[in-house]
Amino acid sequence: MTKNPLPLSEIPLDMTQPRNIAIIGAGLAGLSCAQALTAQGHLVQLFEKSRGVSGRMSTRSFESWACDHGAQYFTATDPAFQRQIEVWQAAGAAALWDAQITSYDAQGWQPVKPSMGRYVGTPSMTAPAKFLAKDLTIHFSTTIDQLLREGKIWKLHSKEHGLHETRFDIVILAIPSKQAEPLVQPHSNLLFDRCRDAVMVPTWALMVYAHKRLALDFDAAFINTGMFSWIARSSSKPKRQSEEAWIAHATSDWSRAHENLTKDEAAPLLTEGFEKLTGIRPEIYQTHLWRYARLGHATHHGHIFDQSLQLGLCGDWTSTEKVEGAWLSGRAVALDIAQQSEAASR
Ligand SMILES: Cc1cc2nc3c(=O)[nH]c(=O)nc-3n(C[C@H](O)[C@H](O)[C@H](O)COP(=O)(O)OP(=O)(O)OC[C@H]3O[C@@H](n4cnc5c(N)ncnc54)[C@H](O)[C@@H]3O)c2cc1C
Repeated sequence: MTKNPLPLSEIPLDMTQPRNIAIIGAGLAGLSCAQALTAQGHLVQLFEKSRGVSGRMSTRSFESWACDHGAQYFTATDPAFQRQIEVWQAAGAAALWDAQITSYDAQGWQPVKPSMGRYVGTPSMTAPAKFLAKDLTIHFSTTIDQLLREGKIWKLHSKEHGLHETRFDIVILAIPSKQAEPLVQPHSNLLFDRCRDAVMVPTWALMVYAHKRLALDFDAAFINTGMFSWIARSSSKPKRQSEEAWIAHATSDWSRAHENLTKDEAAPLLTEGFEKLTGIRPEIYQTHLWRYARLGHATHHGHIFDQSLQLGLCGDWTSTEKVEGAWLSGRAVALDIAQQSEAASR
């Protein structure tokens, strides 16, 4: 089960036994895990298939505009994550988004009362992850496609570079369940079943740019009817450079029903939907499919660390499916490793 992670300073230091640890995935879960393990004195290397950090908490940049097309904002309920947000704020990597939010349903548009602080990365959603990544060793453009176990050590194989030279004592997978599934399958039925049970569903995203402000008198809206679940003026967030950029996320049901469409096939459906909802026809737009956006059902089994294999799983899907949950799940695995080392040294 997921435990509440301790603040970094309270995670026991394990300087006597530094271990070589590989973390697959440099989203919020992998980065928070790496930071906590590095603080314990371990030698950590991250492997990331794309060219940058941050995973689904992301901003897409085009020639003259940019749009937050993944996670829209983050909230904090856990004191450790609240402290992390304060650190990001002090470093200029995050700020409160004082958005005017409405909701839309069969009765029309209704204002939503602010219930909690909504934070965003500044100047883009990738800033908090970049802040966490500053002093970490990360191998970019490296898609791990095989984990090899030889005695008590792990070797990693990537699609781009073949066998990696470092031998690892511990491997942590901080990636969506579907992507972790084939990696754990040869090694653990328990971990494989855990991944297979966590079915993740897609989200289609429509990014819209306009030369002048669109005539919509809110910054974001929860949409409770039709094909979209959320639309937002991405450019209303603090420190954004773009003039007028909007994001619209389709519902999980709509996205699942249309997940086999190409971007060109999905674009007219998404833009027509946007026009139907807002009365505005997008002229400059891009689309993106998040194939493993969120869990299809709400069962969170918690992070897992298999002591006999020295193999762990974390990520938002093991927690609350949110930025906060991803961050907490990474620290929870790090705490398991610290407690295990402490027990072994007694
Ligand atoms: C459309 C959308 C909207 C969202 N809105 C919100 C929101 O408003 N608020 C909120 O709190 N959360 C939101 N979320 C959820 C939030 O984005 C995630 O919970 C969080 O970012 C997940 O972090 P993670 O580290 O678990 O996974 P990820 O961010 O997915 O990171 C995993 C990383 O692993 C890499 N990877 C995968 N496979 C491999 C491999 N084999 N080898 C190497 N690297 C690999 C990926 O490239 C990625 O960088 C949203 C998500 C989506 C998709």
